[in-house]
Amino acid sequence: MLVERIWAANDYRNFHYLIACPETGEALAVDPLDWRRCLDAARDRGWRITQVLNTHEHLDHTGGNAGMVGATGAKLLAHAAAGRIGGVDRGLSKGDVIRVGGTVELECLDTPGHTMTHICLFAHTEQPALFCGDTLFNAGVGNCHNGGDPLRLYDTFVTQIAKLPDSTRVYPGHEYLARNLQFTLDREPDNAAAAEVLADAREHDAAAARVTTLGEEKRINSFFRLQNPTVIARLRDAFPELGEQPDARTIFLKLRELRNSW
Ligand SMILES: [Zn+2]
Ligand SMILES: [Zn+2]
Repeated sequence: MLVERIWAANDYRNFHYLIACPETGEALAVDPLDWRRCLDAARDRGWRITQVLNTHEHLDHTGGNAGMVGATGAKLLAHAAAGRIGGVDRGLSKGDVIRVGGTVELECLDTPGHTMTHICLFAHTEQPALFCGDTLFNAGVGNCHNGGDPLRLYDTFVTQIAKLPDSTRVYPGHEYLARNLQFTLDREPDNAAAAEVLADAREHDAAAARVTTLGEEKRINSFFRLQNPTVIARLRDAFPELGEQPDARTIFLKLRELRNSW
């Protein structure tokens, strides 16, 4: 499996992805808003885009569908219930397998929370990979402002994302690493790993931002650190009603609430 991450250099800070089969050169484009940039990248590598996949229905992920399908004739894949996305050729459900060329297989995860029809792709490769749209970001999680539900996002994290192997590479839909790390450090000022990654992030432009692993996320992403004493103590300062032993779900929801206005 070959993966090309494409920085869109736009205000949304989108990352697009091409996932290609090394034997046939067929490629799947994930959320190619800037479809021309994706098409150029594919041509440079001699790849042919045969499928487009939307992780969810927001326009900053679907806005390139028509251009890309018009230019390539690619098939469009999206969550089976994502009715707002027009022209879907294949509706996806939990456990479906998406094949790219002769060698690539991606498992569809049904991951509601950011929206209720959000999917992630998981590659069971030697080093696994997760294409996670706006569900998980580097050092953060998606908001739930536009059709989402923080409680469902918590469930998705606990029952699915957190159970994937620590070695999994994380490929989100946007580049928010430095900003999210600042939130981590606001919540957990003694998090040395987050401080180190932030210093590193400031030395790179977004096009060269690091690809984290889930193991690393568990060290630098507050939303995986729901048992951390500093996180809990500082949340109690902000929300005195939390009491002595708030449960993980409450911590997650309060972190999401704070991040909304941070
Ligand atoms: Zn979104
Ligand atoms: Zn987005």
